[in-house]
Amino acid sequence: MIDVTQSREEMTSSPAVISDMAAYDHEQVLFCQDKATGLKAIIAIHDTTLGPSLGGTRMWHYANEAEALTDVLRLSRGMTYKSALAGLNLGGGKAVIIGDSRKDKSEALFRRFGRFVNSLGGKYITAEDVGISTKEIEWVAMETKHVAGKPTYLGGSGDPSPVTAYGVYMGMKAAAKEQFGSDDLGGKKIAVQGVGNVGETLVDYLVKEGAVVTVTDIWEDRVKEIVHKYGVQACLPDEIYDIDMDIYAPCALGATVNDDTLKRLKCAVIAGAANNQLANEKHHGIEVMKKGIVYAPDYLVNAGGIINCYWEVIGYNQEAAMSQATQIYDTTLNILKKSSSEQIPTYLAANQMAEARIAAIGRIKQKF
Ligand code: NAD
Repeated sequence: MIDVTQSREEMTSSPAVISDMAAYDHEQVLFCQDKATGLKAIIAIHDTTLGPSLGGTRMWHYANEAEALTDVLRLSRGMTYKSALAGLNLGGGKAVIIGDSRKDKSEALFRRFGRFVNSLGGKYITAEDVGISTKEIEWVAMETKHVAGKPTYLGGSGDPSPVTAYGVYMGMKAAAKEQFGSDDLGGKKIAVQGVGNVGETLVDYLVKEGAVVTVTDIWEDRVKEIVHKYGVQACLPDEIYDIDMDIYAPCALGATVNDDTLKRLKCAVIAGAANNQLANEKHHGIEVMKKGIVYAPDYLVNAGGIINCYWEVIGYNQEAAMSQATQIYDTTLNILKKSSSEQIPTYLAANQMAEARIAAIGRIKQKF
């Protein structure tokens, strides 16, 4: 727990924490510290109206605790919206472990973290995120059953990337229907930025449908492998914003839709797996709308991963997870229609739909 004897410089003090929590509207924030293992972590539970909060644990070398707190508050809030929009009975939560993922990992540290997760009695369910691999999840799972995204040999659902890629493909088809009047991607010029786990499977779907695909990645050998395997074209990482394309699919990093790239991008649709694609949600959300680009909200189209985790929690069934990921198509269409009829950016239409579901289900839950 937080050491209240520490100074503000050493650890964010309670009043600041409470005001930060209030700003993001959180239910609960747990500060975890264990001197013996060197564990310093924060677990943030944003909203449990729809169900237990679920979201991965990130291990990162934050400059200070305040930075870690801001990150976990922001990320956990995002999970509430993502699960609400995907139609899941899950709330939003997230955890961060302050440390260097290349140097500071140990079995004891992760098992201690698992005990903190367990102390919440299932109100928070953890999973993998940046800096955390299956190995550490195995250690966490030794101390708590409130873990999702476990490997298949531990009874988990394994790598969620195939479901994520399928959901992105569904969201992209819906966005194409809205923009071009047909969801047929045959002949469409599509640029896929980042051909990792999700990007490669997406390329596979696109090529099978007859799209004209161009890929890029910072790893040249990876690009060569994908070009050889799928017969697609390639460009250099920075060239992707200038090539002739109908659809831009960011599947690498966030914030690639920004002031610089918006001057260069000639696409009509943006739909990809990367989180937080709009550098500034409000500003760039309006800018893409002004340019006539249909932007499929990232946290909706990349919800396949959380959908997979959800089914792991309630009893894994890959067919059911894929079927629920198919619904991303209809949800995307509904959001795009709301955006065009109300003349509001698509990110705002998505946020409003998520908030409406939480409010509606919240009212039902109060009734006997
Ligand atoms: P990954 O690490 O397997 O692949 C990302 C790829 O992007 C890598 O090959 C990397 O080399 C490449 N890359 C990095 N910087 C680049 C750049 N500047 N230009 C071009 N390529 C670059 O990750 P992933 O699991 O495929 O996930 C892709 C994105 O989708 C990430 O942003 C991730 O947070 C998000 N996402 C993934 C899932 C999932 O289920 N895996 C779920 C939701 C969201």
